[in-house]
Amino acid sequence: MADPASDLPFFYGSISRIEAEEHLKLAGMSDGLFLLRQCLRSLGGYVLSLVWNLQFHHYSVEKQLNGTYCIAGGKPHCGPGELCEFYSKDADGMVFNLRKPCLRAPETPIRTGIFDSLRDNMLRQYVRETWHLEGEAMEQAVISQAPQLEKLIATTAHEKMPWYHSKITRQEAERRLYSAAQPDGKFLVRDREDNGTFALSVMYGKTAYHYQILHDKSGKYSMPEGTKFDTVWQLVEYFKMKQDGLVTILREVCMSPSCTVATPFLPAARKPRPNGYTPAPEAPPQTDRALPMDTSVYESPYSDPEALKEKKLFLKREQLMIDEEELGSGNFGCVKKGIYKMRKKHIDVAIKVLKSENEKSVKDELMKEAEIMHQLDNPYIVRMIGLCQAESLMLVMEMAASGPLNKFLSSKRDQILVDNVVELMHQVSLGMVYLEENNFVHRDLAARNVLLVNQHYAKISDFGLSKALGADDNYYKARTAGKWPLKWYAPECINYHKFSSKSDVWSFGITMWEAFSFGGKPYKKMKGPEVTGFIESGKRMDCPAGCPDQMYTLMKDCWIYKHEERPDFAKVEEQMRTYYYSISKKTPPEEKAGDTTAATAKAPPM
Ligand code: AMP
Repeated sequence: MADPASDLPFFYGSISRIEAEEHLKLAGMSDGLFLLRQCLRSLGGYVLSLVWNLQFHHYSVEKQLNGTYCIAGGKPHCGPGELCEFYSKDADGMVFNLRKPCLRAPETPIRTGIFDSLRDNMLRQYVRETWHLEGEAMEQAVISQAPQLEKLIATTAHEKMPWYHSKITRQEAERRLYSAAQPDGKFLVRDREDNGTFALSVMYGKTAYHYQILHDKSGKYSMPEGTKFDTVWQLVEYFKMKQDGLVTILREVCMSPSCTVATPFLPAARKPRPNGYTPAPEAPPQTDRALPMDTSVYESPYSDPEALKEKKLFLKREQLMIDEEELGSGNFGCVKKGIYKMRKKHIDVAIKVLKSENEKSVKDELMKEAEIMHQLDNPYIVRMIGLCQAESLMLVMEMAASGPLNKFLSSKRDQILVDNVVELMHQVSLGMVYLEENNFVHRDLAARNVLLVNQHYAKISDFGLSKALGADDNYYKARTAGKWPLKWYAPECINYHKFSSKSDVWSFGITMWEAFSFGGKPYKKMKGPEVTGFIESGKRMDCPAGCPDQMYTLMKDCWIYKHEERPDFAKVEEQMRTYYYSISKKTPPEEKAGDTTAATAKAPPM
């Protein structure tokens, strides 16, 4: 997960005080020279190292519970960058203002902290064990759901740690510490008998020492008067690195007898996803909404090797049950609900049924759409299950039951928070990165073509206009203009009929605008040619009411006139992700449809 300071050129990551001073010496020791580093004591905190009068001054920047950052006694700021900007103008109690950033050399990467790598490994292990995902599917789960996964892990991870002995007496703890070897730093954590808090018991000089782990009202854990941590396991990891008042640093785990394996330390698994996956033990209530990985459409139905053996482009009609219920319609015909019966499971599907009186060209178009979809497999793209030629030609797809994004948002605008919109648009950007990496151009990205599996899970659909680019091409050139969604098209599409992932980026910007205006119509009542004039004269749509500044800035980047200067999807996704993670850290764990605050409330500035 990216550190909120990772974009700052004077941020060095997890370096020590001595290393910070070395960097400042090398950079000349001028008054006001400064750098920012990760704090080893407080999670999510930083240290500002500043030179004045040829001396070093180090200021702790604490991360507050509400997500703001401040130097003790100073004003709160919404991010480390904003804090540094503030102190560059006003010393406000520091010895000097931040005058000159000590920039990281290109060959000096930001050093990852111990917690970062620990957390990343835990997230991966959790996803692997809970949803049985591997490889790309696992990576996508971690990237798209990191904030939720962190919350799941943070609360209960200690219960699965080998050093956690649950409720035992002090005497029993001593008995366990004294059994077998008794090296300095051998330790365990136990529940205290009386008040539901924890205790840390540690050996030093053949003597057992016991420390109470306090748990304050805000949910933080700490030693008396010590640094506060969000979780018990983070506290333990910290004391493995730093003595900080203990008799010794923690070295060797006194293994809990109930821990059968040496390493696993994961919280109880979540409920299994539907459709025949192995049931896991009943989970404690952790997060009350389904994550994309909990649904049956996160992975392809053919990800199971058994099912893959039976995969065919043309499906048997007898395996398909078609409902009367229509999900939508178009010139081609209609989209109906149905069920596809596979050998091991039945899956809900959406079936695009061609009207039988359609001309051949419409049939050819559907075949082209199928040909593209057949090649795609990503959790954030609607997958094709297959084609079926029976009473008519039918394209069978995964079901995204909550329908098009624009309609969903406009019908639920009082119930959906802006953060939820950011989450969904981040998922769309992940799907678009996949298309970009695999050389497909979508050519019809719009909120109407983003379908929702549920309120927190979006998939890109409608590949009717999409093209696969040749390995050496980075754009597709249309010979003639067709029935095009001009308001979603970049200038080079309209002027030169050139379509690339960069022109999809433009459409992504329009889709963002639609999403943040809760299903609003872009460019109001303007007609296509009027929009072209508007864009050519350098104008762009205004920021939708309540849309966070960072998201509007990204939209405008997507609408940079020259495609060479526009960001690609890799960059767009990175920006969406950074913003999404930053707001997810600040907001309370869950919001539910129906009990949220006003959707148009402007997200807090960063
Ligand atoms: P399309 O012609 O692909 O834009 O589909 C027309 C409408 O059918 C969409 O706007 C949706 O409401 C519905 N639809 C299409 N595909 C699906 C799907 N995979 N799951 C659920 N509804 C769908």
